[in-house]
Amino acid sequence: MNRIAACCCGTTSIELSGDPQTNVICSCDDCKKRTGSAVGWSAYFNNTQVVKKTGHTETYEPAKSPDQVRYFCSHCGSTLYWETGSFPNMTGVAGGNFTHTPLAAPETSYRDENRCRWFELPAEMQKN
Ligand SMILES: [Zn+2]
Ligand SMILES: [Zn+2]
Repeated sequence: MNRIAACCCGTTSIELSGDPQTNVICSCDDCKKRTGSAVGWSAYFNNTQVVKKTGHTETYEPAKSPDQVRYFCSHCGSTLYWETGSFPNMTGVAGGNFTHTPLAAPETSYRDENRCRWFELPAEMQKN
């Protein structure tokens, strides 16, 4: 099965084959700021699973994470995918952008000690 993650305006997308290798949410300050939300939802696919990219992206390279490049839609600003030295040879994709081909529930909540306490999670979800 192929999945497509698309930005808000729909002009930028990434298509991937199969399921992500890693599917997590994270409550670090950086993920909160990147998304403007309570958590960042990150699905990592092997680069060999990337089928197609469409549209025009700009990039952002965080000063405090020099091994990271984030790609966002140059029109609407949605962050769609990124590369990071923490997951070499993989592409991280923003999980909320798979609106028509949703991912399974995330496996792990990272930086769980920084999670907004009103944001409750299933008891069975791993917390790091
Ligand atoms: Zn867009
Ligand atoms: Zn994070």
